[in-house]
Amino acid sequence: MPSDLVIVYHRQPYEEVEENGKTVLRENKSPNGIVPTLKSFFGKVDHGAWVAWKLADDSNEPGWDRQIEVDDSFGSYSVSRLPLTQRQVHEFYHVTSKEAFWPILHSFKDRYNYDPVDWPNFREVNWRFAEAAAAEAADGALVWVHDYNLWLVPGYLRQMRPDVKIAFFHHTPFPAPDMFNVLPWRKEIIESLMACDSVGFHIPRYATNFAAVVQSLMDVEVTDRANVPDDLIAEGTALTERRVPTILNGPFGDVNLSVAPVGVDVEYIQARAREEATQQRVKALRTDLGDRKLILSVGRTDYTKGGIEQLESFERVLEERPELRGQVQLMHVSVSANRDMAAYGEIQSAIEEAAGRINGRFGSLDWQPITLVSRAIPFKDLIAYYQAASVAWITPLADGMNLVAKEFIASRVDGDGALVLSEFAGAAVELGAAVATNPFSARSMDVAIGQALDMSETERRDRMKAMQTAVRRYDLSSWGKSIDALLHPPRKDAA
Ligand code: UDP
Repeated sequence: MPSDLVIVYHRQPYEEVEENGKTVLRENKSPNGIVPTLKSFFGKVDHGAWVAWKLADDSNEPGWDRQIEVDDSFGSYSVSRLPLTQRQVHEFYHVTSKEAFWPILHSFKDRYNYDPVDWPNFREVNWRFAEAAAAEAADGALVWVHDYNLWLVPGYLRQMRPDVKIAFFHHTPFPAPDMFNVLPWRKEIIESLMACDSVGFHIPRYATNFAAVVQSLMDVEVTDRANVPDDLIAEGTALTERRVPTILNGPFGDVNLSVAPVGVDVEYIQARAREEATQQRVKALRTDLGDRKLILSVGRTDYTKGGIEQLESFERVLEERPELRGQVQLMHVSVSANRDMAAYGEIQSAIEEAAGRINGRFGSLDWQPITLVSRAIPFKDLIAYYQAASVAWITPLADGMNLVAKEFIASRVDGDGALVLSEFAGAAVELGAAVATNPFSARSMDVAIGQALDMSETERRDRMKAMQTAVRRYDLSSWGKSIDALLHPPRKDAA
């Protein structure tokens, strides 16, 4: 059935689990995250489709149905499953996307690895995603493509289906030309993105960088700009912009640059936070802590997250402020998402080594300064930790948005808790009331965590209140509105 909205996202919109030797589809356990949010858009159209890849031994004869109809709590929608072999996935996702694009998107030139990239494979995979989307889209449908591993889809799709509207959203940072143009495929990528009707970013800085990259590669003009709203200006912080380009006149017509920070489902998180079971858990955690303050750090194991820099700061603070020994405890959650990639294995070892060293230097029989957690904590447990913590310490070196910071704020139904947030997380422009820190400066890191630990309750509560207002303003539903205008454009004949 042709669909009015086609979502192109590399992951399938459900979990596949084995039950009694049969594969069954289950709704994602975590109601958080982007997949349920995207599925909720199917409620706004007559029929929707999702395009994702699925592992196959033979991409021509996968041995399963390419197209299925799914009925879940979001209604009924089609899923077009693109058969890709292990090799294709490895090349397109683990190599090209993670070893070449990811470091550049996060401004880590020295981690960029060009040599192993199989560009023809990347093109082919993107072409197949575009073909699958073209096959699902009704006349004039909206095709919404997500993230850098599908950068070439808009250009291919425009050739196949000039009638459809194409929107693209970046869930990562977007770097300035000096960084982006390290990619030898820069022009091909940008020409593809300029086939979109709308290109979306979390914050104004990324849209500004994108416009600068486009102008460095093509003869294109910015035809409209807007003032950045006050609620996306955190005075003096690294990612803040004042003006943002909103329209580029591309070869296929106007390209809208949209800014829509992804948010969290505040109502859902608060309901979970208030549940009796969660409250019991928080109480038990606090009893265990006694007079000690819990500093909580949560993230994926990734060089962009600045885990090592944070542990080193903690070591310096314990060194310089002996009175904190025995009084604070750092729970450092660093979850490995890409175990099979060498770069991530190295970071994990470095984190384990640093934590071991610090525990060895300062620990005693009844106090371990750092509790390192490498497995993923289920979201409902995380909400209890967020509430038991005195300080959330979130210090990525680069991060498109950072939802952990927003989840921490949303879960503080008690109105207390301090947040130390890197200036280089997209969320920092919304959260001017956080204690901002620069993770590239040891001094700034040490001062910020000290400030958060010493902060009076009145100041913590004032800041938390302001941050809760910010997190509510750009919540999940507000993110969704950014696509509404494309889904239901005003009728041309309307007065
Ligand atoms: N998360 C989780 N359990 C963990 C660690 C992280 O459920 O042990 C979730 C966390 O709640 C958040 C997401 O993983 O929703 C991480 O998102 P974020 O934007 O902070 O970082 P990303 O991993 O997307 O770079």
